[in-house]
This record gives sequence, C-alpha cells and structure tokens, in this order.
Amino acid sequence: MATTLSPKMAAEGGGGAGCPGSGPGPSRWHWSGSLWAQGILFLLGWLRASATYFPVSLSSAPPCRHHVPSDSEVINKVYLKTNHLVKRDIDEHLRIKTVYDKSIEELLPEKRYLVKNKLFPQAISYLERTLQVRRPAGTILLSRQCATNQYLRKENDPHRYCTGECAEHTKCGPVTVPEEHLQQCRVCRGGKWLCGAVGVPDQEGVRDADFVLYVGALATERCSHENIISYAAYCQQEAKMDRPIAGYANLCPNMISTQPQEFVGMLSTVKHEIIHALGFSAGLFAFYHDKDGNPLTSRFADGLPSFNHSLGLYQWSDKVVRTVERLWDVRDNKRVHHTVYLLVTPRVVVSIP
Ligand SMILES: [Zn+2]
Repeated sequence: MATTLSPKMAAEGGGGAGCPGSGPGPSRWHWSGSLWAQGILFLLGWLRASATYFPVSLSSAPPCRHHVPSDSEVINKVYLKTNHLVKRDIDEHLRIKTVYDKSIEELLPEKRYLVKNKLFPQAISYLERTLQVRRPAGTILLSRQCATNQYLRKENDPHRYCTGECAEHTKCGPVTVPEEHLQQCRVCRGGKWLCGAVGVPDQEGVRDADFVLYVGALATERCSHENIISYAAYCQQEAKMDRPIAGYANLCPNMISTQPQEFVGMLSTVKHEIIHALGFSAGLFAFYHDKDGNPLTSRFADGLPSFNHSLGLYQWSDKVVRTVERLWDVRDNKRVHHTVYLLVTPRVVVSIP
C-alpha cells in the first residue's frame, strides 16, 4: 500500500504503485488542517503508526498514474475569511461537497445515475467516514484565475491580484468552477499601486465543507491518450495550512461501465483518485505540516517552499520524504542496491519501494 516515488515518477505525479482506494479502514485516521500529513496513515491503512520500516509488496496493485497538476493550474495561499482553527484538539469528520458539472448531466441516463447515485456518494461517504479534519470554520470561496496567469501579491494583503484581468472562467482541472463559488475579481492595472476589486462581489461560496470536489465527465485529451477511467487532483490550497480546499475528479465518459461486475473496480478507482485530490500527491508533500501546524519544509518569504523546476514540483524536505539505500534480492541469489524513498510522517515511516 505504499507508493513508489522515483524522481521521474515524482515529476509525473508521485505515483508508482497503486495507493489503496478501497482499504477496509478499520480505524479512523486523523486528517487535520495542521496535521494533515497524517492523512497518509489512512492511505496506508493497516500500517500502524510506528517508526519502523515496512516493506510492502505492490505487485497486485494497479499502476498509479496520478499527474501532479502544474504550478499554473493550482492557486495556493487562498485567503478564506473565517478560516481559523476553532478548537485545535477536536477532530471532526471530513466534509466533502460534491458538485457535478454539466457534463455529468449530459451523460446517458444510466451512466448519470451510476455516477451521481452510486459511485460518488459511496466513495465520498467512505472518505468522509474514514478521514478526520481539524476543522477550519467557515465558507470555501475560491480564488479566480487570471487571464494571463500573471498575478501580484502585496505586503500585508492576503489577496492575489491578477495583472490586467481575471480569467473569464476559473477552472479546476478541466471543470469550470460555478460563479457562485468564487471570490470577487481582484486586479492590478498599471502597476502595484493601482489594484482593487472589480466586478461582482464575493459570491456565497460553499458552506459547511472542508473540501469541494468538482466532478466532470469530459472527454479530455488525457482520456483519449490514456486508458483510464478517471483522474483527479487538487486545484486550490488555503493560506493558513496549505490544505487543498478544492479539487476535481474527471471520469472519461467512454470508460464508465454500467456493468454490475465492473462496479467494485470503478468504485476503488474513484476512491483512489479522490485521495490524490485530498492531499496524497507529490505536488503537496512540500506543503505538509506537523501536528503543531508548522511546515515540515522550510518556506521563503513568500510563504512557499522552493520550486524544483526540473521536477516541476515544490521541493519537499527530508522531514517528509527520505532517501535510503536498500539491498534487494533478485534472482540467482544476487542482491542489488536500490534507492528507496520513504514518506515520513510523525506517526509512520513508510517504505516506498
Ligand atoms: Zn494514484
């Protein structure tokens, strides 16, 4: 149940081997704003909290093809007005708000019913029951993308200002975010001193949720190139704890099967993919925090970890992922040296073979 993470794979998405999407989840693992790296414990299911190394076989798991979203696809440091930790020691069940895109409504009735009434409700319910969050109070109101992908931040101002214009539509992966989930557009026109909010004011946002999941069934390029049922990722991270607050899951419409015997496999895939959107992604390792809310990877003045351009990822510290050399048995009594990456959280050190 561990995941393989070679630098190449990290660039592709930190995948490698299948992370479980359908583990039995006998215990409740804590997933919190300040402690959300512990959500990994859930992913590792039966791996108990310990500082022992667990060699894990993955031979039967399907390959993981998670793509880390590119830097331009993710908005981080999203300011949420009332996003303070109310009761630091009280963990609550994760609350996911599922929002279906128009493309889901356009599916054939049988497929639409399957997605909206079985697949996603069951996957989400499983994840909500299994994961806990140190709850940030308040409403999720997402930041707008910029027309040119260029933006400014000002000192002592939590907002992000687009240089010129906001994008006409803000997307989360391939899915368009509804207007009512968006903050007011903020722009700078003619330099840092001419900045302000323009257009419709802040919308109502999403209440009583820790995470918004946009579900689409778009026949994207990725669907046509890869033999996949679905894929998912996060798209916005809040400012205080860097937690992902929004993500998407896209189903490749031609791959949705209404055959009963396919259901368990699809459900497992959907759970697996949503888990990537919730935080188990190489693109978020550098954003993990410890139990006191302190980043496990040091930050620059802009509040972000350093960006590794060759990997296309924020570079994590060795408090999150460590490298060790292992000897692996191969055929004919031969042993080979192998570099292994370990994902390390306060409660678990996991071998990622
Ligand atoms: Zn995966």
